[in-house]
Amino acid sequence: MSRTVEVLSVFGTRPEAIKMAPLVAELQRRPLFRSRVCVTAQHRELLDMVNRHFAISPDFDLDVMRAGQTLCGLASRVLAGMEQVFAQAAPALVLVHGDTATTAVCALAAFYAGIPVGHVEAGLRTFDRRSPFPEEGNRLVAGHLADIHFAPTARNAQYLKQENIKKNVYITGNTVIDALAYTVRPDYAFAQPALQDLATRFAHTVVVTAHRRENHGAPLEQICGALRTLAGRYPDTCFVYPVHPNPAVRQTAERLLSGLPNLLLLPPLDTADMHNLMARCRFVMTDSGGLQEEAPALGKPVLVLRRETERPEAIEAGTALLCGTRQEAVVAAAVRLLEDEAAYQAMAQAINPYGDGRASPRIADAIEHFFGLRELPPPPFLGCAEGGGD
Ligand code: UDP
Repeated sequence: MSRTVEVLSVFGTRPEAIKMAPLVAELQRRPLFRSRVCVTAQHRELLDMVNRHFAISPDFDLDVMRAGQTLCGLASRVLAGMEQVFAQAAPALVLVHGDTATTAVCALAAFYAGIPVGHVEAGLRTFDRRSPFPEEGNRLVAGHLADIHFAPTARNAQYLKQENIKKNVYITGNTVIDALAYTVRPDYAFAQPALQDLATRFAHTVVVTAHRRENHGAPLEQICGALRTLAGRYPDTCFVYPVHPNPAVRQTAERLLSGLPNLLLLPPLDTADMHNLMARCRFVMTDSGGLQEEAPALGKPVLVLRRETERPEAIEAGTALLCGTRQEAVVAAAVRLLEDEAAYQAMAQAINPYGDGRASPRIADAIEHFFGLRELPPPPFLGCAEGGGD
């Protein structure tokens, strides 16, 4: 007798949506699943941009975002909202992604409702609960409540094992690499007008993003100071900074960086614009997690504007450099990439420590395996950590 597994994918922010979109598409393609999507809309505008791009129409929308929202307010709206959604949708499995409030609280709501939870992008750790805050705490909560764990790398699976999470751990790669296959095109035409003639006006483009909570205030001011110095010193290089709408970020960036001819402060970019810009840039300067994964896959060096990272694989592979947020350190690292061709080439290696672009089919295979609908998948399944599938 044929059986359909009801899977509810829940996400609330831009990076979650980008990384869940290829998996949602994969689940929809498979007849064994009935795939539905719930958004919490923890971020409204940025999330909707991604959903439009990937043609995802959510089946449930909690619309929890409020002006000046606090973590507790957000968490309580997600918890109450998910209870209603579970009552209506009755999923056999809830999928959450990564490390946001949506991730942790939705995992908790599913646990309370007795519904198994699958955690996509499991096992990332800095081992410092305060940094990044609240992400490290959120992924700990989700990881310890989840029933199936989709670890992007062997290291992530190892970290779970150290926390005694050994059952149903699948090493899959990161779905963000799958997403690049949907967006990056050699003949791509940019939607954002300011990006359309960059290649003719400048010798190089450097992509910048900085918005993480731990960089608000003095660290972001240092980063902006570095960008000002670099833009002044290299007029043939365009620094493109799509600015996060968070007022704490936007006000600082506008105050310190407005009025420079080769420093573009732009509104958030559509995902395809962002990925294609990265594919054509010289290098990336960022505090974002997603960009640390995407840039190495595109062969672009990354200067990580943070003190620590839960993504050490690219640093060990030599394609990313943890340079902190001090102005002089950021300037020095960027100058090296702009002036020292050998140093640049050493970092500009197209490597994929985060996967081969087939994480979504592996996750779908693993879910089928979890529900007893298939044998452990053959290669190129990356692996099943010890005890996986028990
Ligand atoms: N991104 C985007 N438009 C932008 C900036 C980022 O589409 O203007 C994408 C980026 O390519 C990556 C994701 O958003 O896939 C990263 O999101 P964010 O930096 O907000 O979160 P993090 O990765 O730090 O969790």
